[in-house]
Amino acid sequence: MKKVSLLGATGSIGTSTLDVIAHYPEQFSLYAVTAYSNVQKLAEIAQRTNAEVAVIGDKSLYSELKEALKDRGLQTKAEAGEKAIVEVAKAQEVDVTVGAIVGAAGIASTFAAAQAGKRMLLANKESVVCGGQLLMDTVKKYQAELLPVDSEHNAVFQCLHGASEEMRLHHRIILTCSGGPFRLRADLSGVTVEEATHHPNWSMGKKITVDSATLMNKGLEVIEARWLFDTPADRIDVVVHPQSIIHSMVQYGDGVVLAQMGAPDMRNTIAYCLGYPERLNAGVKPLDFSKVGQLTFEAPDLKRFPQLGYAYEALKMGGCGCIMLNAANEIAVEAFIAGRIHFIDIAKVCEVMMNSASSIAPKNLEEVLEEDRRSRILTKEFINGFSGE
Ligand code: NAD
Ligand code: MG
Repeated sequence: MKKVSLLGATGSIGTSTLDVIAHYPEQFSLYAVTAYSNVQKLAEIAQRTNAEVAVIGDKSLYSELKEALKDRGLQTKAEAGEKAIVEVAKAQEVDVTVGAIVGAAGIASTFAAAQAGKRMLLANKESVVCGGQLLMDTVKKYQAELLPVDSEHNAVFQCLHGASEEMRLHHRIILTCSGGPFRLRADLSGVTVEEATHHPNWSMGKKITVDSATLMNKGLEVIEARWLFDTPADRIDVVVHPQSIIHSMVQYGDGVVLAQMGAPDMRNTIAYCLGYPERLNAGVKPLDFSKVGQLTFEAPDLKRFPQLGYAYEALKMGGCGCIMLNAANEIAVEAFIAGRIHFIDIAKVCEVMMNSASSIAPKNLEEVLEEDRRSRILTKEFINGFSGE
């Protein structure tokens, strides 16, 4: 029986993870479940999973969580605050930590799980984007195991399986991209929040759905792939594949390409990581090729979706370029969802803010978190004085 800490249990990935775990009650039990502010949903999950600990990120909700657990007659221990999330990410009892928090808020717990040598199922791509080489060194140093939940990276991980060092020297990664809801829309100036938070193929949290609409998500995934697979950016390509059936590909030195396919359902990648190296069945309907129809491919349009290009630039810049790009994007997406800036301004904010990134790479977790904080403050100031013109 493996004990799991599920960080971000109330979100989209959290919900899918609980669904997969429910298929295998004899293999997994919940040690901890966490959320930021939805106390009732967290208490309901704690009840359903019999979790030992429930942590609410927002400290001011501690008493409310305690009451909610008591009202349900649960023995589950209530905890609150960012430090408490870090504690359950690295707790000794835990075998598997699932990182399904959204945004840079997930960085500290990802590092904590790495330092504790855990098996980590990592959906929180922002911690790879910001942690970069430092995170990968930490994983190696403490012999942690980082299994990518992000569907593209999960696909690449599978396609690289069994590749020798020599084969890896010449591989290229081809990340697929649905193109998002605006692939065929010429003018993006009037995009509404409603339109940008509706993805054609995947059902996901709000922030990543907007990132998919700007293609920032694919940009973050290029950066994620660079670090996860130690592949230089000039060997990572992006191709638009609107059907989202091929989740990504690896091309070897002989030009032959391996692709991983499946229904666009995150339960598949979560099950793969939970069971690794065995394969668990998440109960997702397998592909029916007689119904799949055509699989098509096209180049991404960097003019309408410049944020994909900014990701390559940030990698080239080095230093804290990726941390700044990630923070600027998070703050800009928040401002867009709040109706304070237009959709096309998200890219403008990112472009301007990247120039303020420190050129010195962070040496430890504290410096990563400090640069993230600084980047957020600068971006908020910029947006406050931003007319969008
Ligand atoms: P979501 O918004 O649905 O859920 C986010 C979770 O994080 C919630 O449980 C929320 O309570 C928690 N959270 C938010 N802010 C927090 C904070 N400050 N402190 C602690 N907890 C906080 O997001 P999601 O779509 O499930 O995405 C989660 C992560 O997985 C993201 O990094 C995303 O890029 C990545 N991802 C998601 C999908 C998907 O299909 N949803 C696919 C690939 C990768
Ligand atoms: Mg993805």
